[in-house]
Amino acid sequence: MIAIAEGGSRARPRRPRGVVHLVGAGPGDPGLLTLRAARLIRRADVLVHDALVGEDILALAAPAAERIDVGKRAGRRGVPQHAINRLLIEAAGRARTVVRLKGGDPFVFGRGGEEALALAAAGVRFRVVPGITAAAGAAASAGIPLTHRSLAHAVTLVTGHEEEGGRRVDWEAIAGAGGTIAIYMGLGRLEEIARRLRAAGLAADTPCAVVAHATLPEQRTVTAPLSGIARAAAAAGAAAPALILVGDVVAVGERIRAHGPVPRKRRVHRAARAALAP
Ligand code: SAH
Repeated sequence: MIAIAEGGSRARPRRPRGVVHLVGAGPGDPGLLTLRAARLIRRADVLVHDALVGEDILALAAPAAERIDVGKRAGRRGVPQHAINRLLIEAAGRARTVVRLKGGDPFVFGRGGEEALALAAAGVRFRVVPGITAAAGAAASAGIPLTHRSLAHAVTLVTGHEEEGGRRVDWEAIAGAGGTIAIYMGLGRLEEIARRLRAAGLAADTPCAVVAHATLPEQRTVTAPLSGIARAAAAAGAAAPALILVGDVVAVGERIRAHGPVPRKRRVHRAARAALAP
């Protein structure tokens, strides 16, 4: 008879002591961090972050924390995903609290899924902390509701960045779904995207907005009909990161903005600081 011992096999590698937290940092304004995210950043022994996470959020970290920037920047390639995965696994072997900080939400175009799979495969414990995704942040700070009764029954979050050899975005299906379209990473290809949405049946006068640097002091919102949005965004000098909103809700936003000021960002900062005070 063969006895099979369950668990406790000496051959099995020890589980790393650290926990990796995949944390959403929100769209930029530190006031839009969750309390859990802020606490984890403060507690982090190792902080691995993207280029989209601003200095005022990183400043919450303890001075002794090890900070590792793995972000892409103009003129500099980001660290490849497989190397980030390895880095997180290795960090969990030597540190108790590892925070992987990402712009927006880790599971919305944030590669959080890839990192979670790699951590799980390596036996590393991990948690996911959601963040305010760019579509929600941009909508709120530009005063454009993502849904609106009788006008938009659905919101589609889609990437404008289609990888070579990857699954292509089905713009026809997206145009056909109706409702609001929120396009991430689309500014550089806006002219082509607008053309494809029109070819898929969206009217040339469908209201559109480009919200650049949403929730940050340098936020810019450009609105124009679908047929002219690429030219309008270029003329206004809109720069990444930018979120593109397509649909009738953009016109509702114009009416909302005409009726009152959107709250000043500074006040949001102060409120967040007070909530976080030790
Ligand atoms: N995980 C992130 C998205 C990362 S992909 C999230 O949930 O928001 C990067 C894209 O997000 C950018 O190209 C841009 O389209 C959008 N984005 C991120 N921050 C933004 C901001 N402050 N303003 C406008 N768009 C933003």
